[in-house]
Order: sequence, then structure tokens, then C-alpha cells
Amino acid sequence: SAHTGGATAPLLPEVFNPWTGWKYSQRYFEMLDKRKALPVWEKRCKFLRYLHDNQTVILVGEAGSGKSTQIPQFVLEANFLKKHSMVACTQPNRVAAMSVSRRVAEEMDVTIGEEVGYSIPFEDCSSPKTILKYLTECMLLREAMADPLLERYKVIILDEAHERTLDMDVLFGFLKVVLRNRPDLKLVIMSATLEAENFQEWFNGAPLMKVPGRLHPVEIFYTVHPERDYLEAAIRTVVHIHTREPPGGILVFLTGEEEIEDACRKITKEICNLGDQVGPTKVFPLYSSLPPAMQQEIFQPSPAPLNEDGSPGRKIVVSTNIAETSLTIDGIVYVIDPGFSEQYVYNPRIRVDSLLVSPISKASAHQRSGHAGRTQPGKCFRLYTERSFNNDLPQKYPEILRSNLATTVLTLKKLGIDDLVHFFLDPPAPETLMRALEVLHYLGALDDDGNLTKLGEIMSEFPLDPQMSKMLVVSAEFNCSNEILSISAMLSAPNCFVRPKEAKTAADEAKARSPSACHISYKVAVLTTDEDLSWCLENFLDERALKAADDVRQQLVRIMARLNLRLCSPDFNSPDYYVNIRKALLAGYFTQVAHLERTGHYLTMKETQVVHLHPSNCLEHKPEWVIYNEYVLTSRDFIRTVTDIRGEWLIDIAPHYYDLSNFPSCEAERVLRRLYRKREKDKQDTKNRK
Ligand code: ADP
Repeated sequence: SAHTGGATAPLLPEVFNPWTGWKYSQRYFEMLDKRKALPVWEKRCKFLRYLHDNQTVILVGEAGSGKSTQIPQFVLEANFLKKHSMVACTQPNRVAAMSVSRRVAEEMDVTIGEEVGYSIPFEDCSSPKTILKYLTECMLLREAMADPLLERYKVIILDEAHERTLDMDVLFGFLKVVLRNRPDLKLVIMSATLEAENFQEWFNGAPLMKVPGRLHPVEIFYTVHPERDYLEAAIRTVVHIHTREPPGGILVFLTGEEEIEDACRKITKEICNLGDQVGPTKVFPLYSSLPPAMQQEIFQPSPAPLNEDGSPGRKIVVSTNIAETSLTIDGIVYVIDPGFSEQYVYNPRIRVDSLLVSPISKASAHQRSGHAGRTQPGKCFRLYTERSFNNDLPQKYPEILRSNLATTVLTLKKLGIDDLVHFFLDPPAPETLMRALEVLHYLGALDDDGNLTKLGEIMSEFPLDPQMSKMLVVSAEFNCSNEILSISAMLSAPNCFVRPKEAKTAADEAKARSPSACHISYKVAVLTTDEDLSWCLENFLDERALKAADDVRQQLVRIMARLNLRLCSPDFNSPDYYVNIRKALLAGYFTQVAHLERTGHYLTMKETQVVHLHPSNCLEHKPEWVIYNEYVLTSRDFIRTVTDIRGEWLIDIAPHYYDLSNFPSCEAERVLRRLYRKREKDKQDTKNRK
């Protein structure tokens, strides 16, 4: 009894769900009424006609106009699509992919993971039945590695294109090639800003369609004077709204995890101090490293009043930029925008990714305020002056112009793309491309001519950065791939080490109980996930983060198995147990080494930047040589997650990188020179003895 709806099919409610053959639920019709009020519905027929007549269509509409949720459904119902042709819709991050797909599954009256699914790094929630898949941009690129023409899809929708994430720019370049080779493929590009006119030119003059109007009006307020402390101002505004304004959730944009956790505590405390003259509140943090289950909590409704005629409750979400796009958080009526966000900025000269807090663009400010009008009329409080808004906010730069491209270049090589210069809509700095090629060459992923090696091919199969994939791929040579798997999983998952304010020292001690290396304490933590909750609490480990790490580990194990990589562990009681693990770490991260100078500070190899061990590290002493996982530039230059290694290993494991004919003159160079001489001499001695 399956009906196939089409562009010309009547919009009258049908009784049977064409995808499942079951009768529609009551809720379906309730949602349908709301959906029909969305601005994109008026353009439904026009859009489908455009899509029928063109290979690529660009659609511009304000956030909240119904692009992410409705357009994929329109496409599915189009009569030019064969039944069961698959549609993909990309999202800029995993929270968005999960929440939009859940919403659409509900709207279509199907079960998430069946007809409508999602795919995000380390989690695939789809099935052979899936006809509409929401996926992060990087997952679409991963699929392209195995299916270079993306043949499983008939229509690909790129959502939030205005965000210009690095992966979106790669998709722009890649899909341009695919479209040429697949005349039957259709592409829809959706954007909330008119910058989309650039896209038209890139995609051979594709037509651009505008969806006018937004759902509900948003009133904007500015401060009269600049705020000295935006965090304090944001908290004050939350309290102001909660005490004076009618019911409705609050969304506050802050910059990073620590600031957000701090703000959540302060907000809870201040509102608690007001006693029961105000309604109850629930405060939820949201940032990308938060375990997925906790991210989903923001979708809870506001709490109920304490008693029958008490003041209404309110939910307060304190989020990073991750909530700026795509996400619709039901019930948000007030937005507080201090005007800053945290971004990674890559400096190719010193090969460092640093996390910087900087002012947002006008386009971002606009996106943020739009959240107040998603479900009803709302208000946005900008914590800066109107003058600043008009004059001071910077341009939005595509991520590709400020990113490390090592992972991207490896992906492109695997996709068979060699002309990196003409591939991009906005070409990255040549120096950044050179750096990427250089590190891939050092890691052995590219040969001297810049072609992908066998090793590079294997490395590209892992959704990890190239250093980490290299470490994982070669770990079997050090007989410790099980251990390295655990470490990689922990480094890829949300942070599992909790450090409650009231028990910081105890938490640090618990972490320090593991052998003197941060990387290894990660491993010890993951190996014990089977233990119970009380064990986690005692050791200050976040059980949910450990669970997430365990999921990542299982995914990585599957990839290892598919590639026939050996799983092995050294004997735990052997004196070499930790030595082997540290050597394997070095085999991946030999480009991230720092040396302790006589002056007492560390210098990175070979850029000779002065760095400090991050206070979170768990070393009791300052080893002469360390490898680090991350370089963070905050108040100082810190290296985070470090492990001690030995100078001899550098010349054993990475002699091509530690080749002294091409090395800056420094203390470390002299130490390495001595080590090389000693190595020569030892060799000579053994020979003489024979
Ligand atoms: P766009 O992609 O244009 O930003 P969406 O398709 O994401 O718009 O959302 C359109 C509208 O659908 C929202 O404004 C909101 O009214 C409703 N909506 C979407 N997701 C949800 C959700 N999770 N809960 C409640 N309403 C939602």
C-alpha cells in the first residue's frame, strides 16, 4: 500500500506512511501542520522544479526557515527520484547531525536508524533501509574514499555551506569533479547568507533560489557602553532575564569548555541565592568534547514550577559556537551574545595550532540572534555596543585559510587528487600546503615524488590525524597495538579525567598514580572501563567519557581488522612494557618533541619555540626529552599530554627527521650529535670485538 508522493502530489494528509506502509500517528499530523508554516514550504514546488531542471541548485534562507529539516524530505518525495534512491545531507558537527536526523525521523514518523539515519565519526546509526542519511562532512569524505563517485547517492545536500568549514571546502572541490563524472547526481547547496553567490560561479552558474522571511521576529538589544568583563556581564544578563522576563529558555554563547563550566556553576549559584522568589532553573553546558549523552540533555524541556502557582521554570544552555548553526533547541526565546568565540589558528611557520579567543563576525552575530526566533518571537542581548556591531566586527574567514592541512592533504591524496592548487574555492597559503606535504613525507605517507605510499594508504583509512594513524599502524612492530589502540581512543574521546573544584589535589594524585606519562595514564584508564562506577569515582574518571572512548576503540579495532593489522600486547610484567609503548608513541609523534634546556625550559624541535609543561601534566620530574600531543597557546605556550622518551630513540626511530645536516643549532643538536657519535663508536666496538 505504499504511495509515492511527488512534486505534484496533493498536499492533503495521506493516511499511510509511504516509507513504512503503516498508518501515520496522530503526532505526525500535528507536526505536519507546524512544518507547513515554515517559509520553505511556500517554495516547495519551485525548488523541486529547479532541482529537476538543473544538476546543482543553491538555496539561501535564514536560519530557522526549514532548510535542514524540510528540504531533504522534499527531495525524497520528488517524483524524479527512483524509490529507495539514497539522499545524503551533511552537517557541520556531530551534535547537529544527531539532532536534525532525530527530528526528521520524528517528522517522517519513522524510527531513527532505519529509514532516516545519521553517521558521525565513530558512530554509524543507519541501516540497509536508510534512504535519508545525515552525516558530518568528514564522514561523507570518508565514504568517498571507498566509493569515489559516491554512487550510493542520487542527491547530495550540503547544509550550512556558509560556515565554510575545512571539510566543506574540500567537498566543494571534490563534488565539482564528481558532478562532471556523474550526470545523474544532483547537488543542493544550502546557506544562510548571500555569500552563496560565490558558490554559483564555482558550480558553473548554478541557479540560486532565495527563501524570504524568518519564522518569528527577534528584538535586538545592545549595551550602551562596552563591557569590561563579558563573562560577568553574561551572568548578570541571565539573572536579569530570569527575574524580569516572561517564560522561555536562555541560550548563552561563551568560548570554551572551562569558561562554560565555570559560568554554569556561577549561574546556578546566583539563581540559588535568589531563593524561591524565582522559578527553578536547569543549566546545561554544551561543547564538542562533552560526551554525546550529556550533549543530548539540552533538548530537555524547562523544569516545571515548584508548586501549582509558583514561578515558571527555565532552562539555560551555555554553549560554544557549536550551537551557532543548524541546531534548533526547542524553547529558546532569549539569546545572550558576548561577541566572542574560540578558534584554532594554524601558524605554518612554527607548525603550531593555537586556540585563540577572537571577536565573531557580523554573520555569526546574525546567526546567533536567529536562535531566539526559532520557536516563537524572542529577544537577543548583544553584550557590545551597536557601534561596535556596525564597525568593529571582523570578516568571516573560511577555515581553510587558518588550518593545518595535513589530514586534508592525506584525504585528498587518497581520493586521487593531485592538483591541490586549483582544487579549492579559496586556495590556502602555499606555506601551509608545503608543511602538510612535508609532514606526510616525514611520516612515510608520501614518497619523494609526493605520491601516496602503501603506508599512507593504510593511514588514510583511520579517522585520526596522520601522526596518530602512523603510530597505530606501526604499533604492532613494537608489539603493543592493543595499548596504542587504547591510547588513541582516549585521546580521540572526550576528556575522562574529572577534576572537581573541591578535590583537585586528590584527583591529580589519582591521575599521577599511573606511570610517569600522560599518554600512559590514558591507557590505564581505558583498560579498566569494565570496572564499576565506584571505581571511576574513586579515581576521578568520568564514566561516560570512558564509555565513549570504549566505543571509539571498538571502531578502531574494526578498522585494524579490516586492514589486517595485528593486535598484540607485550607481557605486562616485562621491564620493557612501558618502553615499547613509548617507542610506538614516538614513531608517530617524532615531529612533536621538546628538549629540556639547561636554562630549565623546554624548546620544541626543530622550530625552537620555548614551551612549558601544561599544569595538567602528570610527570613528577622534568625529563630531558618529551613528546607532546598538543601545543596550546593560552596565557603561555604550553605543551599538553606529554610522555618522557629517550634521546637515543630519536636517532633510532626517526633518523631521517633528526638528520643533523639540516638542523638548527641548539643545545639539543649538540646532545644528538653526541648520541650519534656514541652510536658510531658502539658499532665500531662490536665490530672490533668480533
Ligand atoms: P534551517 O535549516 O533553515 O535553519 P531547520 O530546518 O533546522 O531550519 O528548522 C526549522 C524549524 O523547525 C525550526 O525553526 C523549528 O521551528 C523547527 N524545529 C527543528 N528542529 C526542532 C527540534 N529539535 N525541536 C523543535 N522544533 C524544531
